[in-house]
Amino acid sequence: MEEMFILKEDQRAILESVARFVEEVVTPRAAALDANPDPEKSFSWEIVEKAHEIGIRTATLDEKWSGFGADSLTTAMVIEELAKGDLGVSVIMAQTLKIAQIMQKALNAEQQARVLPSFAGDPRGLLAIGITEPDNASNYFLPYPTPLRTSGEKTEGGWIVNGMKHFISNGNRASHYLLFVQTARGKPMAEGTTCFLVERGRPGFTIGRVHDKMGERLANNAELIFVDCFIPDENVVGEVGRGFAVLRGFFPQSNAYAGASILGVAVALYEKAVLWAKTRVQGGRVLIEHDGIRAELAEMRMLIDASRSYIHRACWLADHQERGWDETLGVLPKVMASQSAWKIATWCLEIHGGHGYMKELGIEKLLRDAAAFLHSDGVNRTLFLKAANLMFAE
Ligand SMILES: Cc1cc2nc3c(=O)[nH]c(=O)nc-3n(C[C@H](O)[C@H](O)[C@H](O)COP(=O)(O)OP(=O)(O)OC[C@H]3O[C@@H](n4cnc5c(N)ncnc54)[C@H](O)[C@@H]3O)c2cc1C
Repeated sequence: MEEMFILKEDQRAILESVARFVEEVVTPRAAALDANPDPEKSFSWEIVEKAHEIGIRTATLDEKWSGFGADSLTTAMVIEELAKGDLGVSVIMAQTLKIAQIMQKALNAEQQARVLPSFAGDPRGLLAIGITEPDNASNYFLPYPTPLRTSGEKTEGGWIVNGMKHFISNGNRASHYLLFVQTARGKPMAEGTTCFLVERGRPGFTIGRVHDKMGERLANNAELIFVDCFIPDENVVGEVGRGFAVLRGFFPQSNAYAGASILGVAVALYEKAVLWAKTRVQGGRVLIEHDGIRAELAEMRMLIDASRSYIHRACWLADHQERGWDETLGVLPKVMASQSAWKIATWCLEIHGGHGYMKELGIEKLLRDAAAFLHSDGVNRTLFLKAANLMFAE
């Protein structure tokens, strides 16, 4: 368990190389990409390809699939480091790293042999997960006993899928998707949903709108549209009707990685606040010599440290569940990190006074980014309700 508190040599080396990637590849491009009014043009394949070159894209793949088998704790550290440079880049990678991790558990041997080598070898290989629909979001987190709208009808050798998903991270960029479909009419989604592996370009599957997000702009989110899309039986992940068993496998890492992404934004805001407090003079002294400001910086530090400890504990226990995994750890760390980031964003803005409101200091971008995870990966209030339901199941 000490791994949670002491950085190992290999982790230090990985984080140094990620920090260099951020400094050399992400930071010089992020502001201009973010400012592009067309959401599709805020995305950069160049950044993805360079992430591939240094092994970030495939870090969670086992060595036999040409990755380096990063554990969940190391992965969360990498995701935070990326987010210090840009939240969108962090999310592109977090989705891919998380889904690759799940694919190695949930896909059968034939599916793994079919998908993982091509994903590993493609510098533009990205992964996405499609669950959310216009009518179903908090519904599947809790879950409520309603069906998904995207439905599959059995036919010879497979399923005909119709419906749509929205808000999907990497939706218009991914090479492979995990898609959740209602395959049993009249059953609640938790009992009647099947998870399918879907390849980009499958007939009947197209991309709809690319969402114009207020922040996290370097990542794309899009609608997935299915019109009489045939998905063969060999693409069923796990068992028919047991899609939620696959989904449950996501929650531990998904929540912690989302927390790590937004934590990186909080750190970037904190660092800007400290820098400004050390240079801006008012009342004859630099701001950091004013007690109110000093105390606020300490509170920011506390929120960052506490969120990171929570995320790291969740990651370590996600990989060692027999040592005391508790299901609220798959729900609450993201809530804490995103609430902290949002608080830190408003305080950072305040410390900068009117200067913070001017775009050139970059706080405006971070403020928009800091709002992203109040809702992504589950609305915070919904997740509190989910945690309470787990805590008081009787
Ligand atoms: C940037 C971004 C990336 C995303 N990426 C993905 C992705 O890759 N894949 C994917 O499948 N989805 C993705 N999502 C979807 C995301 O998980 C949902 O947006 C999120 O769960 C909220 O859904 P909603 O907006 O429909 O809110 P709703 O569920 O409609 O909630 C609206 C409000 O009602 C409240 N509420 C709902 N139920 C209750 C209740 N029972 N009691 C009290 N209050 C309640 C909520 O807390 C919230 O305040 C993404 C979303 C965003 C914004």
